[in-house]
Amino acid sequence: MQAPSLGGVQVPRGNGKTVVRLRHGSSLNDLADKIDANPASLVTVLFHLGEMATATQSLDEDTFSTLATELGYVIEMVSAEEEDRELLGGFDIDLDAELDAEGDDELEARPPVVTVMGHVDHGKTRLLDAIRKTDVVSGEAGGITQHIGAYQVHHEHEGIDRALTFIDTPGHEAFTAMRARGAQVTDIAILVVAADDGVMPQTIEALNHAQAAGVPIVVAVNKIDKESANPDKIRQQLTEYNLVAEEYGGDTMFVDVSAREGLNIDELLGAVLLTADASLDLRANPNKDARGVAIEANLDKGRGAVATVLVQSGTLHVGDSIVAGTAYGRVRAMFDEHGDPVLAATPARPVMVLGLTSVPRAGDTFLVAPDDRTARQIAEKREAAERAALLAKRRKRISLEDFTQALQQGKVETLNLVLKGDVSGAVEALEDALLKIDVGEEVELRVIHRGVGAITQNDVNLATVDNAVIIGFNVKTGERVAEMADREGVDIKFYSVIYQAIDDVEAALKGMLKPEYEEAQLGTAEVREVFRSSKFGNIAGCLVRSGTIRRNTKARVLRGGTVVEDNLSVESLKRFKDDATEVREGYECGIGLGSFNDLRVDDVIETFEMREKPRS
Ligand code: GDP
Repeated sequence: MQAPSLGGVQVPRGNGKTVVRLRHGSSLNDLADKIDANPASLVTVLFHLGEMATATQSLDEDTFSTLATELGYVIEMVSAEEEDRELLGGFDIDLDAELDAEGDDELEARPPVVTVMGHVDHGKTRLLDAIRKTDVVSGEAGGITQHIGAYQVHHEHEGIDRALTFIDTPGHEAFTAMRARGAQVTDIAILVVAADDGVMPQTIEALNHAQAAGVPIVVAVNKIDKESANPDKIRQQLTEYNLVAEEYGGDTMFVDVSAREGLNIDELLGAVLLTADASLDLRANPNKDARGVAIEANLDKGRGAVATVLVQSGTLHVGDSIVAGTAYGRVRAMFDEHGDPVLAATPARPVMVLGLTSVPRAGDTFLVAPDDRTARQIAEKREAAERAALLAKRRKRISLEDFTQALQQGKVETLNLVLKGDVSGAVEALEDALLKIDVGEEVELRVIHRGVGAITQNDVNLATVDNAVIIGFNVKTGERVAEMADREGVDIKFYSVIYQAIDDVEAALKGMLKPEYEEAQLGTAEVREVFRSSKFGNIAGCLVRSGTIRRNTKARVLRGGTVVEDNLSVESLKRFKDDATEVREGYECGIGLGSFNDLRVDDVIETFEMREKPRS
């Protein structure tokens, strides 16, 4: 059955119950693959349903559902985790059973994982050193000697010996980069502020990152040994950022410390544990195969791939076969931060692992597989899935133009913004003006981060996690940042007049900014010969004159400079006898334009796609 209202295109139809499973981030090409349809006709159908998309653009669940309902299919979106689950299902690793087996009885308390953040030179590195040195309870002679990316210290809290795990890379860049990769390892953040200096841009950046991640903060007011120290001023300043000290009636713990003198470090650890106990339920099941995250990894000349992993649940043993990201191998040996060998690592324990065949990335998750072969197969599958995901990722997360639509569909309630400007006065003025926009009840405008200077990778990471649009006022992007934003689908808007920025944001909130599309030519081919085929329709034997001819792209036919037929698509593409996905300039190929058969020698086939037009 065909519906002429949908442009009369031929699409294989489902019976209304046929289920199609798609990964998040899929495109029309992926759907076309699953239902054996021509992607170009799906583009057409979607267009007639009032949505414009290219075949390779990644679409959301609602769009797929609308399209699928029209065609008689039921769409089920699968998350990366579910996909992992499916992937692992074939390998005798049952994540569901694992989680089922996780009743209250199985869960045991685990140490908190802490990251130290704050402005440069406020003493983060020194504080991490000082904390290392207080670790007297563990009775380790010589203390912590190795840098493995994380360490654990012990502290006697209310008469009980408690462990705390510290991520040994100060700063929020590592924190955000990991979070952008989907790994949340930090339970609690220590925000270091120098008492002789005060709240600085990176202080704010750090607390924005922690608050956006929903990570509780303990403030370490550092350098109180200095004469010019004014710890009260810090408390005062931070109230503006919703960090109100307990003594001022708030619920954030502030501890005055001196990293240099080793002053009040114990109190700080106590405050971290109190905060953890009050606001988090830190428990994990140690009695199962380990899962966790790689924190740091490098290639060592003598030892091969060396990775520090943080066990998040289960217990990791020497001899386990593991997969970390797309790296795999068998745990040959494990060491702790003292350089001592470890045979079994329980939740929140960081260990350096030897035995992987390649180097995982920071933020990669790891898990234990039943055997070496399975580990290798999972790694290979992950690699393939990663490649596919990378292709599908070239999409917009959210842009000012599509914000209203997302709002109407109930997918967002807030427009998150990251503001960057050349001078702080401008950023503040912009933020003030933006927050004054009357946006009505059902939508909220949130500035999740503001700062002075070029747009950095860190800004893009933050925008990635929080689905934010970046507004640059009189600033440019830093090195490789535009490329990264493009890859992650983060929308960056540049302005040099404040009112223009405000106008655009206001228009987005009120639904007046529509995306504009423009045609991008992909390639042209000249028809040299026409082969008649009753089965496939006519095939044009062509020479590619410019660009690249790709299968499933839109096409039109020109004769003597005028268009004789538009709205076609390259339905088949061959190099000699073989199907090809693309053919480059200077090569010959066979092109089939579906049902369009009126092809003649010397016709020119022009192929193109619709791309969203950047706003000036
Ligand atoms: P980071 O950039 O935040 O990691 O800061 P560092 O830990 O490198 O410290 C920056 C500078 O401040 C160094 O010269 C430290 O010696 C100094 N410093 C750090 N903590 C203290 C402190 O508690 N008191 C004093 N007087 N100086 C400190």
